[in-house]
Amino acid sequence: MRAMKAEGGWAVVANQETEIHPTSDLSPFAENRLWDARDIPALRLMTDAVHDKGALAAIELVHNGNHAQNLVSRAPVLAPSDMSLDYPFPKQARAMDKSDIRTLRRWHRDAAIRARDAGFDIVYVYAGHRMTLAQHFMLPHMNRRCDEYGGSLENRVRLTRELLEDTKEAVGDTCAVAFRFAVDEMLGADGMQAAEEGRAIVEMLAELPDLWDVNVCEWANDSVTTRFQPQDGYQNDHISFVKAVTSKPVVGVGRLTSPDMMLSMVRKGIVDLIGAARPSIADPFLPRKIEEGRIDEIRECIGCNICIMADSVGAPIRCTQNPTMGEEWRRGWHPEIIAPKGAEAKALVVGAGPAGLECAMQLARRGYDVTLAEAGPELGGRVLNESRLPGLGAWARVRDYRVNDLRQRANVNIYTNSRLDAAQVVELGIPNVFTATGARWRADGVGRSTLRKPPVIGAGVHVMTPDDIVGGVMPPEGPVAVYDDDHAYIAGVIAEKLALAGYAVVFVTPESLVSSFTALTLEQHRVQTRLIELGVDIRCNRILKSLDQGAMQIACAFSGKPQAIACNSAILVTERIRETTLYDGLRGKGLTTLELIGDAAGPALIADAVYSGHKAARDFERPKEAVEQDWFRRERVEPGTGVQ
Ligand code: ADP
Ligand code: SF4
Repeated sequence: MRAMKAEGGWAVVANQETEIHPTSDLSPFAENRLWDARDIPALRLMTDAVHDKGALAAIELVHNGNHAQNLVSRAPVLAPSDMSLDYPFPKQARAMDKSDIRTLRRWHRDAAIRARDAGFDIVYVYAGHRMTLAQHFMLPHMNRRCDEYGGSLENRVRLTRELLEDTKEAVGDTCAVAFRFAVDEMLGADGMQAAEEGRAIVEMLAELPDLWDVNVCEWANDSVTTRFQPQDGYQNDHISFVKAVTSKPVVGVGRLTSPDMMLSMVRKGIVDLIGAARPSIADPFLPRKIEEGRIDEIRECIGCNICIMADSVGAPIRCTQNPTMGEEWRRGWHPEIIAPKGAEAKALVVGAGPAGLECAMQLARRGYDVTLAEAGPELGGRVLNESRLPGLGAWARVRDYRVNDLRQRANVNIYTNSRLDAAQVVELGIPNVFTATGARWRADGVGRSTLRKPPVIGAGVHVMTPDDIVGGVMPPEGPVAVYDDDHAYIAGVIAEKLALAGYAVVFVTPESLVSSFTALTLEQHRVQTRLIELGVDIRCNRILKSLDQGAMQIACAFSGKPQAIACNSAILVTERIRETTLYDGLRGKGLTTLELIGDAAGPALIADAVYSGHKAARDFERPKEAVEQDWFRRERVEPGTGVQ
């Protein structure tokens, strides 16, 4: 994956946080480890691969203090002062004494030497995201010490200064030493602010690192979604002072996908170098495309944080926009290259949602004559509809990138307003058919919490689904109850839209948080805050029982205690029904290929629909047995060889 970024033109490829010691064990999250010399060969794989493609390799060395739970190592958790863990876990971190601090410095120094030996060109000292000890020591609410490591700012910065000096002394003659520093906690007067201690720290350490890598914290502010921060370069106001304080180069981030924004940041003297995580995930070839003037071909990050969701659950990385992300090694997928077509010449893709668009685009890239038929007047399916909801405008990039590509290809014919039935498809005579016909929300309230006892849907309440709202239909006047048994973003966004339109909205969910899945995309606190601020009446831990006579009957998820909510309309956000009429009608009709892809095969995230479309295009004309048997490459030891 990192070699792919190097190939795509990134000058430096950094790995994620790398634990320096078992007392900084971030499990269950999948981070790098450099606990001892036996971790070097694994990291060597990265540095060699990155160097092979002509980029520099950087390593972010961290000790995570009370952000680590040490679940695998079972080591004691360390912090500047006695305190709870960062996670709601019944375990506390202990205050480090002076000998702990000396030991920590040794661990960091040894890890820096191992990093150099693993071939890294840039070694980081890390004080970002409020996730590392160096930063924890800086923050007065985490550092309540009375010795020379606590109290005054100079004392609180002492550990960071020492780590920087130690690292420079250990590897500074062969590696650059970078310092990642969150200049602002984004808590106003309640936290460190760029204008005050943030700036003072940069002034104190100005010439010590070889490179300043500056951002804001916490992670939800650093990697904010487009729903809550549509503007790229959103960190500029906070980091812009840094270059005036140091003569060393400065790199910054901020979901930077637009070359114009990048250029203006360099021209205005905000940064010397453009940093990116999400934009490089969505398009590993972003720099190469800028260099070659292929700006239209940039696959822009949509700021949905599905990549972060995967990290949050300890699963392999994935991306809504880039279905090859995380599949480079295990499937051998390249984001820009796909095998040319085999013996078949033509393919029909039915449905132009994210699955159909991706499938059609990749088939066209492989050289097939592709016909894309869409029932609606516009291309984009659910992603187009959802992009019209409050805050989700950037999601249209999933459609725009693919439509832009498809429209430029001579081997693609696109038909809108073309709902096809099985007879029409057979009549077209195209032997290879990919049905990407999507799914629709069910209106009977059946979902994970009501499976055993489906709700009673009577008369006297106007029942609607997300399909109505995203399609532009609004409820009749009067109070609306939104029932969310889906827990992703959609019910919360719909409640927001209705509240903004002036409806009195009650939000009911069996979960104990609004849109609980969005905690994994770092948004949940913002979603709930927004609904509260819009006056939405939130009822958590409640299960839908019935809709009848102007009321939604609900019951406590624990005690079963009933409650009635007066409403004229109800929006039921529970499950989706796969649209397979066309696929079912085409079975047994003698087609060479008939594939069901996207939400029609299994309703899920937009990222899953794109992935499904991509995979179907890659697998087309591969022998069936190969597709079935060749799942993906796994990291395992071959018996007897010790080799993967
Ligand atoms: P996915 O997420 O799997 O791409 P979507 O629901 O976004 O699914 O898109 C499915 C698309 O398929 C919709 O735009 C819908 O209009 C279209 N569609 C559904 N049935 C047909 C059909 N029989 N003929 C043409 N288009 C269809
Ligand atoms: Fe951007 Fe979403 Fe891809 Fe993450 S998953 S890189 S936020 S498009």
